[in-house]
Amino acid sequence: MEKESHNEDISQTDVENVSQEKNFRINSISKNESEKKEEVWNVISSQIRKDIGETAWRSWIKPLEFGDLKDGVIHLSASSKLVCDRVKSHYSDKLRLIAKSLSVPVSALEINWNELSNLMNISDAPSGRAPRITEMKDKELSRKAVSSTHGLDPRFTFSNFFVGKPNELAFAAARRVVESATAAFNPLFLYSGVGLGKTHLMHAIAWEINSRQPNRKVMYLSAEKFMYRFIQALRHKDTMTFKEQFRSVDVLMIDDVQFISGKESTQEEFFHTFNALVDDGKQVVLSADKSPTDLSGMEERLRSRLGWGMVADIHATTYELRLGILISKRDSVAVSVPDAVLEFLAHKITSNIRELEGAFNRIVAHASLVGRTITVEMARETLSDLIRASSRRVTIDDIQKQVSKHFSIRTSDMFSARRARSIARPRQIAMYLAKNLTTSSYPEIGRKFGGRDHTTIMHAVKKVEELLIHDSEMSDDVELLRSLLSDN
Ligand code: ADP
Ligand code: MG
Repeated sequence: MEKESHNEDISQTDVENVSQEKNFRINSISKNESEKKEEVWNVISSQIRKDIGETAWRSWIKPLEFGDLKDGVIHLSASSKLVCDRVKSHYSDKLRLIAKSLSVPVSALEINWNELSNLMNISDAPSGRAPRITEMKDKELSRKAVSSTHGLDPRFTFSNFFVGKPNELAFAAARRVVESATAAFNPLFLYSGVGLGKTHLMHAIAWEINSRQPNRKVMYLSAEKFMYRFIQALRHKDTMTFKEQFRSVDVLMIDDVQFISGKESTQEEFFHTFNALVDDGKQVVLSADKSPTDLSGMEERLRSRLGWGMVADIHATTYELRLGILISKRDSVAVSVPDAVLEFLAHKITSNIRELEGAFNRIVAHASLVGRTITVEMARETLSDLIRASSRRVTIDDIQKQVSKHFSIRTSDMFSARRARSIARPRQIAMYLAKNLTTSSYPEIGRKFGGRDHTTIMHAVKKVEELLIHDSEMSDDVELLRSLLSDN
Protein backbone atom coordinates (compact mmCIF):
# COMPACT_ATOMS: atom_id res chain seq x y z
CA MET A 1 0.00 0.00 0.00
CA GLU A 2 2.87 2.38 0.66
CA LYS A 3 3.72 4.78 -2.03
CA GLU A 4 7.44 5.00 -2.37
CA SER A 5 7.26 7.08 -5.45
CA HIS A 6 6.12 10.42 -4.17
CA ASN A 7 9.71 11.42 -3.66
CA GLU A 8 9.96 13.62 -6.67
CA ASP A 9 7.47 16.23 -5.60
CA ILE A 10 9.22 16.81 -2.32
CA SER A 11 12.18 18.81 -2.14
CA GLN A 12 13.49 22.19 -2.74
CA THR A 13 10.15 23.90 -2.33
CA ASP A 14 9.28 22.15 0.88
CA VAL A 15 12.78 22.63 2.13
CA GLU A 16 12.69 26.33 1.43
CA ASN A 17 9.32 26.74 2.98
CA VAL A 18 10.61 25.35 6.21
CA SER A 19 13.37 27.82 6.58
CA GLN A 20 11.38 30.79 5.43
CA GLU A 21 8.43 30.23 7.65
CA LYS A 22 10.25 29.63 10.86
CA ASN A 23 13.51 31.45 10.96
CA PHE A 24 13.94 30.80 14.60
CA ARG A 25 13.17 27.13 14.62
CA ILE A 26 15.95 24.79 15.39
CA ASN A 27 15.36 22.39 12.59
CA SER A 28 15.28 24.77 9.71
CA ILE A 29 17.09 23.37 6.80
CA SER A 30 18.99 25.83 4.74
CA LYS A 31 22.39 26.54 3.37
CA ASN A 32 23.36 28.95 6.08
CA GLU A 33 21.75 27.05 8.89
CA SER A 34 24.58 27.65 11.31
CA GLU A 35 24.46 31.37 10.67
CA LYS A 36 20.79 31.35 11.47
CA LYS A 37 21.39 29.48 14.67
CA GLU A 38 24.03 31.94 15.68
CA GLU A 39 21.62 34.74 14.91
CA VAL A 40 19.15 33.14 17.29
CA TRP A 41 21.81 33.10 19.96
CA ASN A 42 22.60 36.75 19.29
CA VAL A 43 18.97 37.67 19.74
CA ILE A 44 18.82 35.73 23.00
CA SER A 45 22.01 37.38 24.15
CA SER A 46 20.83 40.90 23.37
CA GLN A 47 17.53 40.16 25.06
CA ILE A 48 19.18 39.09 28.30
CA ARG A 49 21.41 42.15 28.06
CA LYS A 50 18.32 44.32 28.51
CA ASP A 51 17.19 42.22 31.43
CA ILE A 52 20.37 41.89 33.43
CA GLY A 53 22.06 45.13 32.54
CA GLU A 54 25.27 46.02 30.80
CA THR A 55 27.73 45.15 33.55
CA ALA A 56 26.46 41.67 34.22
CA TRP A 57 26.10 41.04 30.53
CA ARG A 58 29.70 42.01 29.82
CA SER A 59 31.00 39.89 32.65
CA TRP A 60 29.05 36.73 32.06
CA ILE A 61 27.23 36.52 28.78
CA LYS A 62 29.52 38.29 26.37
CA PRO A 63 32.44 35.93 27.08
CA LEU A 64 30.33 32.99 25.95
CA GLU A 65 31.02 31.67 22.54
CA PHE A 66 28.20 30.14 20.62
CA GLY A 67 28.78 26.62 19.36
CA ASP A 68 25.56 25.08 18.17
CA LEU A 69 21.86 24.85 18.72
CA LYS A 70 20.67 21.34 18.23
CA ASP A 71 17.84 19.19 19.53
CA GLY A 72 16.81 21.81 22.02
CA VAL A 73 20.31 22.20 23.44
CA ILE A 74 22.37 25.36 23.17
CA HIS A 75 26.06 24.56 23.13
CA LEU A 76 28.32 27.32 24.37
CA SER A 77 31.91 27.65 25.36
CA ALA A 78 33.00 29.80 28.25
CA SER A 79 36.34 31.42 28.81
CA SER A 80 36.67 30.07 32.34
CA LYS A 81 35.11 27.79 34.87
CA LEU A 82 33.99 30.84 36.79
CA VAL A 83 31.94 32.09 33.88
CA CYS A 84 30.63 28.63 33.29
CA ASP A 85 29.48 28.19 36.90
CA ARG A 86 28.02 31.63 37.09
CA VAL A 87 25.98 31.22 33.95
CA LYS A 88 24.84 27.86 35.22
CA SER A 89 23.68 29.19 38.57
CA HIS A 90 22.34 32.57 37.56
CA TYR A 91 21.41 32.73 33.94
CA SER A 92 20.52 29.35 32.52
CA ASP A 93 16.84 29.54 33.41
CA LYS A 94 16.62 33.05 32.14
CA LEU A 95 18.28 32.17 28.87
CA ARG A 96 15.95 29.26 28.35
CA LEU A 97 12.98 31.44 29.15
CA ILE A 98 14.06 34.02 26.64
CA ALA A 99 14.64 31.32 24.04
CA LYS A 100 11.16 30.08 24.76
CA SER A 101 9.69 33.51 24.33
CA LEU A 102 11.27 33.51 20.88
CA SER A 103 9.66 30.13 20.16
CA VAL A 104 12.97 28.36 20.34
CA PRO A 105 12.36 25.41 22.61
CA VAL A 106 15.55 25.01 24.59
CA SER A 107 15.60 22.28 27.19
CA ALA A 108 19.21 22.70 28.21
CA LEU A 109 22.38 24.72 27.91
CA GLU A 110 25.68 22.97 27.62
CA ILE A 111 28.78 24.89 28.46
CA ASN A 112 32.22 23.76 27.57
CA TRP A 113 34.89 25.70 29.42
CA ASN A 114 38.21 24.31 28.33
CA GLU A 115 39.89 23.03 25.23
CA LEU A 116 39.49 19.46 26.32
CA SER A 117 35.77 19.67 25.84
CA ASN A 118 34.95 19.35 29.44
CA LEU A 119 31.25 19.39 28.93
CA MET A 120 28.92 20.54 31.60
CA ASN A 121 25.35 19.75 31.40
CA ILE A 122 22.95 22.33 32.73
CA SER A 123 19.78 20.54 32.00
CA ASP A 124 16.77 20.58 34.20
CA ALA A 125 15.41 17.51 32.53
CA PRO A 126 14.82 14.66 34.99
CA SER A 127 18.09 13.02 35.89
CA GLY A 128 19.41 10.44 33.53
CA ARG A 129 17.32 11.87 30.79
CA ALA A 130 19.53 14.76 29.89
CA PRO A 131 19.88 15.28 26.17
CA ARG A 132 22.88 13.57 24.66
CA ILE A 133 25.98 15.60 24.28
CA THR A 134 27.39 13.69 21.36
CA GLU A 135 26.55 15.13 18.06
CA MET A 136 24.94 12.67 15.78
CA LYS A 137 24.84 12.74 12.07
CA ASP A 138 21.35 13.30 10.78
CA LYS A 139 21.20 9.78 9.50
CA GLU A 140 22.12 8.35 12.88
CA LEU A 141 19.65 10.64 14.46
CA SER A 142 16.83 9.30 12.39
CA ARG A 143 17.84 5.75 13.26
CA LYS A 144 18.11 6.46 16.93
CA ALA A 145 15.67 4.57 19.08
CA VAL A 146 12.83 6.81 20.14
CA SER A 147 13.32 7.99 23.65
CA SER A 148 9.89 8.77 24.87
CA THR A 149 10.77 11.62 27.19
CA HIS A 150 13.34 13.18 24.96
CA GLY A 151 12.53 16.79 24.29
CA LEU A 152 9.68 16.95 26.77
CA ASP A 153 9.44 19.91 29.07
CA PRO A 154 9.52 18.62 32.65
CA ARG A 155 7.18 21.39 33.74
CA PHE A 156 4.45 20.43 31.32
CA THR A 157 2.65 17.89 33.48
CA PHE A 158 -0.99 17.35 34.37
CA SER A 159 -0.36 18.48 37.91
CA ASN A 160 0.97 21.79 36.64
CA PHE A 161 -1.98 22.31 34.38
CA PHE A 162 -4.61 24.58 35.84
CA VAL A 163 -8.08 23.56 34.74
CA GLY A 164 -10.85 26.07 34.14
CA LYS A 165 -13.83 26.52 31.87
CA PRO A 166 -11.81 27.36 28.75
CA ASN A 167 -9.73 24.19 28.83
CA GLU A 168 -11.76 21.62 30.77
CA LEU A 169 -12.83 19.68 27.70
CA ALA A 170 -9.32 19.42 26.30
CA PHE A 171 -8.02 18.47 29.73
CA ALA A 172 -10.65 15.75 30.20
CA ALA A 173 -9.91 14.36 26.75
CA ALA A 174 -6.19 14.29 27.46
CA ARG A 175 -6.81 12.49 30.75
CA ARG A 176 -8.93 9.94 28.95
CA VAL A 177 -6.07 9.19 26.58
CA VAL A 178 -3.76 8.30 29.45
CA GLU A 179 -6.36 6.39 31.38
CA SER A 180 -7.34 3.98 28.66
CA ALA A 181 -5.06 1.15 27.69
CA THR A 182 -6.17 1.33 24.07
CA ALA A 183 -6.98 4.21 21.79
CA ALA A 184 -9.68 6.29 23.42
CA PHE A 185 -10.69 8.26 20.37
CA ASN A 186 -8.78 8.54 17.19
CA PRO A 187 -7.39 11.01 16.75
CA LEU A 188 -7.62 13.34 19.70
CA PHE A 189 -7.38 16.67 17.97
CA LEU A 190 -6.59 19.67 20.17
CA TYR A 191 -6.80 23.12 18.76
CA SER A 192 -6.55 26.71 19.99
CA GLY A 193 -4.76 29.96 19.41
CA VAL A 194 -1.15 30.22 20.53
CA GLY A 195 -0.05 29.96 24.11
CA LEU A 196 -3.16 28.33 25.49
CA GLY A 197 -1.80 24.95 26.53
CA LYS A 198 -1.85 22.50 23.62
CA THR A 199 1.80 21.61 23.86
CA HIS A 200 1.57 21.50 27.62
CA LEU A 201 -1.24 18.95 27.44
CA MET A 202 0.57 16.83 24.89
CA HIS A 203 3.72 16.69 26.99
CA ALA A 204 1.57 15.89 30.00
CA ILE A 205 0.09 12.92 28.14
CA ALA A 206 3.57 11.71 27.26
CA TRP A 207 4.90 12.06 30.81
CA GLU A 208 1.90 10.34 32.30
CA ILE A 209 1.86 7.39 29.92
CA ASN A 210 5.56 7.08 30.40
CA SER A 211 5.15 6.65 34.12
CA ARG A 212 1.90 4.66 34.17
CA GLN A 213 2.41 2.36 31.24
CA PRO A 214 6.12 2.36 30.50
CA ASN A 215 5.65 -0.38 27.94
CA ARG A 216 3.53 1.81 25.77
CA LYS A 217 5.82 3.52 23.36
CA VAL A 218 5.01 7.20 23.06
CA MET A 219 6.39 9.51 20.45
CA TYR A 220 5.96 13.24 20.52
CA LEU A 221 7.24 15.63 17.91
CA SER A 222 6.34 18.80 16.11
CA ALA A 223 4.93 18.57 12.61
CA GLU A 224 7.95 20.52 11.54
CA LYS A 225 10.26 17.89 12.89
CA PHE A 226 8.16 15.19 11.33
CA MET A 227 8.66 16.90 8.00
CA TYR A 228 12.33 17.40 8.62
CA ARG A 229 12.86 13.76 9.37
CA PHE A 230 10.85 12.76 6.36
CA ILE A 231 12.95 14.94 4.10
CA GLN A 232 16.11 13.56 5.64
CA ALA A 233 14.87 10.05 5.00
CA LEU A 234 14.19 10.92 1.40
CA ARG A 235 17.61 12.39 1.00
CA HIS A 236 19.24 9.34 2.41
CA LYS A 237 16.90 7.10 0.48
CA ASP A 238 15.91 5.54 3.73
CA THR A 239 12.16 5.90 3.92
CA MET A 240 11.76 2.35 5.20
CA THR A 241 13.47 3.16 8.48
CA PHE A 242 11.41 6.29 8.72
CA LYS A 243 8.18 4.39 8.22
CA GLU A 244 9.13 1.64 10.63
CA GLN A 245 10.06 4.11 13.27
CA PHE A 246 6.78 5.95 13.17
CA ARG A 247 4.63 2.93 12.76
CA SER A 248 6.08 1.03 15.67
CA VAL A 249 4.79 3.43 18.32
CA ASP A 250 1.68 2.99 20.46
CA VAL A 251 0.94 6.66 20.84
CA LEU A 252 1.96 9.18 18.23
CA MET A 253 1.62 12.86 19.02
CA ILE A 254 2.24 15.49 16.42
CA ASP A 255 2.15 19.11 17.49
CA ASP A 256 1.16 22.03 15.30
CA VAL A 257 0.03 20.06 12.27
CA GLN A 258 -0.99 23.28 10.55
CA PHE A 259 2.68 23.46 9.72
CA ILE A 260 2.33 20.82 7.02
CA SER A 261 -0.48 22.71 5.31
CA GLY A 262 0.50 23.15 1.72
CA LYS A 263 3.39 20.71 2.01
CA GLU A 264 1.96 18.03 -0.17
CA SER A 265 4.38 15.17 0.07
CA THR A 266 4.77 15.54 3.81
CA GLN A 267 1.02 15.54 4.11
CA GLU A 268 0.81 12.43 2.04
CA GLU A 269 3.33 10.66 4.21
CA PHE A 270 1.63 11.88 7.33
CA PHE A 271 -1.67 10.59 6.04
CA HIS A 272 -0.20 7.13 5.46
CA THR A 273 1.40 7.05 8.88
CA PHE A 274 -1.77 8.25 10.47
CA ASN A 275 -3.93 5.64 8.74
CA ALA A 276 -1.51 2.85 9.50
CA LEU A 277 -1.55 3.68 13.20
CA VAL A 278 -5.28 4.16 13.44
CA ASP A 279 -5.89 0.90 11.60
CA ASP A 280 -3.67 -0.77 14.15
CA GLY A 281 -5.67 0.67 17.01
CA LYS A 282 -2.83 2.95 18.10
CA GLN A 283 -3.57 6.31 19.66
CA VAL A 284 -2.91 9.44 17.66
CA VAL A 285 -2.96 12.90 19.27
CA LEU A 286 -2.67 16.00 17.14
CA SER A 287 -2.72 19.72 17.74
CA ALA A 288 -3.23 22.68 15.46
CA ASP A 289 -4.09 26.33 15.58
CA LYS A 290 -7.40 25.68 13.83
CA SER A 291 -10.10 23.06 13.74
CA PRO A 292 -9.70 20.31 11.14
CA THR A 293 -12.35 21.88 8.94
CA ASP A 294 -10.58 25.22 8.96
CA LEU A 295 -7.14 23.89 8.10
CA SER A 296 -6.65 25.37 4.70
CA GLY A 297 -3.95 23.88 2.54
CA MET A 298 -4.81 20.42 3.82
CA GLU A 299 -6.16 17.87 1.49
CA GLU A 300 -9.87 17.37 1.90
CA ARG A 301 -9.68 13.64 2.72
CA LEU A 302 -7.06 14.34 5.38
CA ARG A 303 -9.06 17.18 6.88
CA SER A 304 -12.17 15.11 7.15
CA ARG A 305 -10.22 12.17 8.56
CA LEU A 306 -8.73 14.40 11.26
CA GLY A 307 -12.16 15.31 12.52
CA TRP A 308 -13.34 11.73 13.03
CA GLY A 309 -12.15 11.33 16.56
CA MET A 310 -12.47 13.80 19.37
CA VAL A 311 -12.00 17.45 18.51
CA ALA A 312 -11.41 19.62 21.57
CA ASP A 313 -10.70 23.30 21.44
CA ILE A 314 -9.19 25.41 24.17
CA HIS A 315 -10.91 28.76 24.46
CA ALA A 316 -9.50 32.14 25.24
CA THR A 317 -8.61 32.53 28.90
CA THR A 318 -10.97 33.96 31.48
CA TYR A 319 -10.01 36.22 34.34
CA GLU A 320 -10.52 33.33 36.78
CA LEU A 321 -8.23 31.03 34.82
CA ARG A 322 -5.54 33.66 34.54
CA LEU A 323 -5.69 34.42 38.23
CA GLY A 324 -5.65 30.72 39.10
CA ILE A 325 -2.55 30.14 37.03
CA LEU A 326 -0.83 33.12 38.60
CA ILE A 327 -1.64 31.95 42.10
CA SER A 328 -0.13 28.57 41.42
CA LYS A 329 2.90 30.21 39.81
CA ARG A 330 3.35 32.34 42.88
CA ASP A 331 3.63 29.21 45.00
CA SER A 332 6.65 28.16 43.01
CA VAL A 333 8.73 31.28 43.45
CA ALA A 334 10.72 32.44 46.43
CA VAL A 335 9.86 36.11 46.35
CA SER A 336 6.56 37.36 47.68
CA VAL A 337 4.04 38.61 45.18
CA PRO A 338 1.03 40.48 46.62
CA ASP A 339 -2.49 39.51 45.57
CA ALA A 340 -3.02 42.92 44.05
CA VAL A 341 -0.16 42.30 41.63
CA LEU A 342 -1.65 38.99 40.52
CA GLU A 343 -5.01 40.67 40.02
CA PHE A 344 -3.35 43.43 38.09
CA LEU A 345 -1.61 40.94 35.77
CA ALA A 346 -4.75 38.87 35.32
CA HIS A 347 -6.56 42.03 34.27
CA LYS A 348 -3.88 43.38 32.01
CA ILE A 349 -2.32 40.42 30.27
CA THR A 350 -5.26 38.81 28.57
CA SER A 351 -3.77 37.60 25.28
CA ASN A 352 -2.65 34.12 26.28
CA ILE A 353 -1.03 32.09 29.02
CA ARG A 354 2.43 32.20 27.54
CA GLU A 355 2.43 35.99 27.74
CA LEU A 356 0.91 35.93 31.17
CA GLU A 357 3.67 33.63 32.40
CA GLY A 358 6.23 35.75 30.61
CA ALA A 359 4.97 38.87 32.37
CA PHE A 360 4.97 37.13 35.73
CA ASN A 361 8.49 35.80 35.20
CA ARG A 362 9.70 39.18 34.16
CA ILE A 363 8.58 40.93 37.30
CA VAL A 364 9.92 38.12 39.49
CA ALA A 365 13.25 38.20 37.64
CA HIS A 366 13.37 41.96 37.81
CA ALA A 367 12.61 42.00 41.52
CA SER A 368 15.30 39.50 42.36
CA LEU A 369 17.87 41.10 40.11
CA VAL A 370 17.52 44.57 41.48
CA GLY A 371 16.32 43.54 44.92
CA ARG A 372 13.06 45.44 44.69
CA THR A 373 9.83 44.43 46.33
CA ILE A 374 7.05 43.63 43.98
CA THR A 375 4.19 46.10 43.93
CA VAL A 376 1.57 46.94 41.35
CA GLU A 377 3.46 50.07 40.52
CA MET A 378 6.67 48.17 40.00
CA ALA A 379 4.83 45.64 37.82
CA ARG A 380 3.36 48.41 35.75
CA GLU A 381 6.78 49.92 35.19
CA THR A 382 8.47 46.64 34.41
CA LEU A 383 5.80 45.71 31.91
CA SER A 384 5.26 49.12 30.44
CA ASP A 385 5.85 47.84 26.93
CA LEU A 386 3.12 45.24 27.34
CA ILE A 387 0.65 47.49 29.02
CA ARG A 388 -0.27 50.50 27.06
CA ALA A 389 -2.39 53.04 28.78
CA SER A 390 -5.85 52.95 27.43
CA SER A 391 -7.06 56.04 25.69
CA ARG A 392 -10.60 55.61 26.86
CA ARG A 393 -11.99 58.48 28.91
CA VAL A 394 -12.91 57.53 32.42
CA THR A 395 -15.81 59.32 34.07
CA ILE A 396 -16.15 60.29 37.71
CA ASP A 397 -19.16 57.98 37.88
CA ASP A 398 -17.00 55.04 36.80
CA ILE A 399 -14.45 55.93 39.44
CA GLN A 400 -17.02 56.19 42.20
CA LYS A 401 -18.55 52.84 41.27
CA GLN A 402 -15.25 51.03 40.96
CA VAL A 403 -13.85 52.43 44.18
CA SER A 404 -17.01 51.61 46.15
CA LYS A 405 -16.98 48.10 44.79
CA HIS A 406 -13.33 47.63 45.63
CA PHE A 407 -13.78 48.73 49.24
CA SER A 408 -17.22 47.15 49.59
CA ILE A 409 -19.03 50.35 50.48
CA ARG A 410 -22.19 51.80 48.96
CA THR A 411 -21.82 54.10 45.99
CA SER A 412 -24.06 56.57 47.81
CA ASP A 413 -21.32 56.90 50.44
CA MET A 414 -19.34 58.77 47.82
CA PHE A 415 -21.81 61.66 48.18
CA SER A 416 -22.69 61.22 51.84
CA ALA A 417 -21.32 63.17 54.75
CA ARG A 418 -20.28 60.08 56.72
CA ARG A 419 -16.83 60.53 58.19
CA ALA A 420 -15.93 57.03 59.37
CA ARG A 421 -12.46 56.29 58.08
CA SER A 422 -13.61 53.09 56.32
CA ILE A 423 -15.72 55.37 54.16
CA ALA A 424 -13.82 58.63 54.15
CA ARG A 425 -10.57 57.03 52.95
CA PRO A 426 -12.08 55.31 49.89
CA ARG A 427 -13.89 58.54 49.12
CA GLN A 428 -10.60 60.42 49.19
CA ILE A 429 -9.05 57.83 46.93
CA ALA A 430 -11.90 58.29 44.49
CA MET A 431 -11.33 62.04 44.56
CA TYR A 432 -7.64 61.52 43.92
CA LEU A 433 -8.38 59.24 40.99
CA ALA A 434 -10.93 61.68 39.63
CA LYS A 435 -8.26 64.37 39.62
CA ASN A 436 -5.70 62.04 38.03
CA LEU A 437 -7.76 60.20 35.48
CA THR A 438 -10.15 62.89 34.29
CA THR A 439 -9.74 66.47 33.18
CA SER A 440 -12.30 67.75 35.69
CA SER A 441 -11.38 70.74 37.84
CA TYR A 442 -11.50 70.72 41.67
CA PRO A 443 -14.87 72.49 41.80
CA GLU A 444 -16.34 70.07 39.23
CA ILE A 445 -15.11 67.10 41.22
CA GLY A 446 -16.49 68.67 44.38
CA ARG A 447 -19.94 68.89 42.83
CA LYS A 448 -19.82 65.22 41.84
CA PHE A 449 -18.99 64.26 45.41
CA GLY A 450 -22.20 65.53 47.02
CA GLY A 451 -21.49 69.22 46.46
CA ARG A 452 -18.28 69.40 48.45
CA ASP A 453 -16.09 72.47 48.42
CA HIS A 454 -13.11 72.49 46.08
CA THR A 455 -10.73 72.84 49.03
CA THR A 456 -11.97 69.52 50.39
CA ILE A 457 -11.02 67.88 47.13
CA MET A 458 -7.61 69.55 47.11
CA HIS A 459 -7.01 68.38 50.62
CA ALA A 460 -8.04 64.80 49.76
CA VAL A 461 -5.75 64.66 46.74
CA LYS A 462 -2.82 65.93 48.78
CA LYS A 463 -3.57 63.49 51.60
CA VAL A 464 -3.67 60.50 49.24
CA GLU A 465 -0.45 61.58 47.55
CA GLU A 466 1.25 61.65 50.96
CA LEU A 467 -0.11 58.29 51.98
CA LEU A 468 0.99 56.67 48.74
CA ILE A 469 4.61 57.34 49.55
CA HIS A 470 4.69 55.15 52.64
CA ASP A 471 1.63 52.98 52.59
CA SER A 472 2.33 50.18 50.14
CA GLU A 473 -1.02 48.51 50.67
CA MET A 474 -2.75 51.69 49.76
CA SER A 475 -0.55 52.26 46.75
CA ASP A 476 -1.36 48.74 45.54
CA ASP A 477 -5.04 49.51 45.93
CA VAL A 478 -4.72 52.72 44.02
CA GLU A 479 -2.69 51.15 41.24
CA LEU A 480 -5.10 48.29 40.91
CA LEU A 481 -8.02 50.69 40.72
CA ARG A 482 -6.20 52.78 38.19
CA SER A 483 -5.65 49.75 36.01
CA LEU A 484 -9.21 48.51 36.39
CA LEU A 485 -10.50 51.89 35.37
CA SER A 486 -8.30 52.26 32.36
CA ASP A 487 -8.99 48.93 30.73
CA ASN A 488 -12.69 48.46 30.51
P1 ADP B 1 0.31 26.25 22.87
O1 ADP B 1 0.99 24.95 22.57
O2 ADP B 1 -1.18 26.15 22.85
O3 ADP B 1 0.81 27.39 22.05
P2 ADP B 1 1.66 25.95 25.40
O4 ADP B 1 1.21 24.59 25.76
O5 ADP B 1 3.05 26.07 24.90
O6 ADP B 1 0.65 26.63 24.36
O7 ADP B 1 1.43 26.89 26.67
C1 ADP B 1 2.08 28.14 26.80
C2 ADP B 1 2.54 28.33 28.23
O8 ADP B 1 1.41 28.45 29.06
C3 ADP B 1 3.32 27.14 28.75
O9 ADP B 1 4.36 27.60 29.56
C4 ADP B 1 2.32 26.37 29.56
O10 ADP B 1 2.91 25.67 30.63
C5 ADP B 1 1.41 27.45 30.07
N1 ADP B 1 0.04 26.98 30.23
C6 ADP B 1 -0.89 26.84 29.27
N2 ADP B 1 -2.05 26.41 29.78
C7 ADP B 1 -1.85 26.26 31.11
C8 ADP B 1 -2.68 25.86 32.20
N3 ADP B 1 -3.96 25.51 32.01
N4 ADP B 1 -2.13 25.82 33.43
C9 ADP B 1 -0.84 26.18 33.61
N5 ADP B 1 -0.02 26.58 32.65
C10 ADP B 1 -0.50 26.63 31.40
MG1 MG C 1 2.47 24.59 21.10
